[in-house]
Amino acid sequence: MEALDGNAIAGDLQELFGHDMTAARGSCRNCGDSHMIAELRVYLRAPGAVVRCPSCGNVVMVLVTIRGETRIDMRGIGGMEPAH
Ligand SMILES: [Zn+2]
Repeated sequence: MEALDGNAIAGDLQELFGHDMTAARGSCRNCGDSHMIAELRVYLRAPGAVVRCPSCGNVVMVLVTIRGETRIDMRGIGGMEPAH
């Protein structure tokens, strides 16, 4: 499956967090590398998306949309830093 970048989930994240998250940074819980959301690798897979760390491939986020409502699992992220 071909990977998209984090811009593929920009709309979902904006809905969840209320603002544009693509320039926010998240650190990977597995390898510790910090990436902008826009740099993450996104695999769209119904009914949601799997988001992986571009450094190590660890799953950092899972988005699931059920009945028009998007839920996000961010267990793979060690920490989030808002865009400055
Ligand atoms: Zn990683």
